[in-house]
Parts: sequence; structure tokens; C-alpha cells
Amino acid sequence: MRENIFGIHVRVCLIMQATGVPASHSLGGRRPASGYERLRPPAMTRVQKMPVLFIGHGSPMNAIEDNAFTQVLEKLSATLPAPRAVCVVSAHWVTRGSQVLTAERPRTIHDFYGFPKSLYAVQYPAPGAPEEAKRLALEHHLLSDHQWGLDHGAWSVLRHIYPKANVPVFQLSLDHQRTFAEHIALGRELQELRERGVLILGSGNLVHNLHRINWEMADSAFPWAQEFDAKVKEAITQRDLESMGEPDRWGSTLLAEAHPTLEHYAPILYCLGSTDEQDIVTYPYEGIEFGTISMRMVLFQPQLSPQS
Ligand code: ZN
Repeated sequence: MRENIFGIHVRVCLIMQATGVPASHSLGGRRPASGYERLRPPAMTRVQKMPVLFIGHGSPMNAIEDNAFTQVLEKLSATLPAPRAVCVVSAHWVTRGSQVLTAERPRTIHDFYGFPKSLYAVQYPAPGAPEEAKRLALEHHLLSDHQWGLDHGAWSVLRHIYPKANVPVFQLSLDHQRTFAEHIALGRELQELRERGVLILGSGNLVHNLHRINWEMADSAFPWAQEFDAKVKEAITQRDLESMGEPDRWGSTLLAEAHPTLEHYAPILYCLGSTDEQDIVTYPYEGIEFGTISMRMVLFQPQLSPQS
């Protein structure tokens, strides 16, 4: 199965440099309510526009390990507004046609093999978000699906961010027939979700070549991996959607080295599509492990208006 791309006996121990979440981006504080605000009925509360997050998820073992990467994940929820739901675009759900998971109780999918039993015992029982998912499918002419669940691209990171599994989660698949530009275009259609309190989470890796993994390079990178990761970072920072939509312009050989298959690259395109020039980009975590896997994390946060 294509989803089992971690099917080789990957046993990862991550040692990387953490950059930490900038304190300046904490959105957790609330001003004391003034007398006028206290009179405002709860139903009038304005939904805060949500950030967009891309996570390089790496090995499924990150679900149960405690390392520099997972420690950054654990701090994230305190820096983000509380979402009403999370929409995950995972590298591990590739389909014909774009599908939206409408399940009320999504199952936890262990879409890998060759790992310790303790990893297969993990469950992430977050509720689904069927109303939001059905609305997205209906209004944007996407397919509904209730049989998929949460794959490890979703739950291996969400269990660190929302360990109580109390935030509703649904997934949007990667349609393998779409061009990169078409992935970005669909990402643009997700912008409205942010206004409704939905956190968009892309889960892939900006460099991902399992064939070239070198166990001797726990915390270093092949030159081509470093080069591609740097070019992607530059393009994201500059909001260069044209280059992101045509990554082979950086060299077809370079792209083939960084991504022998493209499903781990595609989720960032949804993140970019759903953001705009007003969003501030930061990189809460970065690092390349075993020569070939970029663990770069990207956070797009709306600028706070003076009234916020
Ligand atoms: Zn993956």
C-alpha cells in the first residue's frame, strides 16, 4: 500500500536542534472584561481567526517518544487559540478525488508495520467534526468519506498537542490527480475554515527520502537535503507560491532526491493556500535527521489587530 511508506524497519531516535516557540506569538492571554464586555451575550463572541500549522511528522515513533521535537509539540496548544476543530491534510491519505472524513468517531489507523507493539496500542479517540466536514464537502464539491479514520500523520502529532483528545478532528485527503497548483487552489478554499475556528494542520515532511536514510547521520543532512529544505524555507518566507507550485524549477534531480514520491511535500501547499500576506510565518522547530528527513515546522499566524 502506498500509505505504508514507513514500511521499512524504521526505528528512529531523534536528536535535533529545537528552536522553541517564540514567546512573542503567545495568544493565550485575555484582557479583563470591561463592564460593557460583561454585558455582551456569549453568542456574540467573535471567533478568532485561526493560525495554520505545518508539521514535519517524521517517524511514527514520535507518537510515543519524548524528545526535542515532541516537546515543542507539547507547548504548542498553549500558544494557539483554542480551535473548534482541526482539519488535517496528511501525507498518509492519498486518494482519487479529494475526500473529506465525515466520521463521528474516527478510528485510529496504525498505517505502518515493523514497529514496537506499544505503538500499535496507541489510540487517539478524538471525536470527528461531521457537520464541518460535510459542509466543506458540500460547498466545495468534494467527496465525503466515513471509512477512513485518523492516520498516523494526524494522531502521532495531535496526541502531543491535544493529549486529552477533546478537540474534534477531521481529515482532507490528497487527490493524486491534482497538480501542485491545484493543491494550492484547494488550500485557498480552506481559508473560510479559519474564520470558523478550525485549525488547518498540514502533516508531511519538507524533505522525505526513506531510501537514502543514513543511520550514522542522526542529526546531520546530505547536502541536497539541506539545499532543498533551505529553498523551501526561503519560498515560504517570501510567500513565493509560484516556486512552491513548481518545485522542479529548483532542479528536477534535486526534487527527485528530496521527494522520490511527492505525498509528503503536498500538505504544505494546503497550508500556503489557506494563508495570505497578513499571516506571520515562524518556524517553531527545524532540523534534518538521518540525512534525509526534514522535521521543519511552520506556523502561520494572523496579525493581531489593535482591537484584538
Ligand atoms: Zn509520513
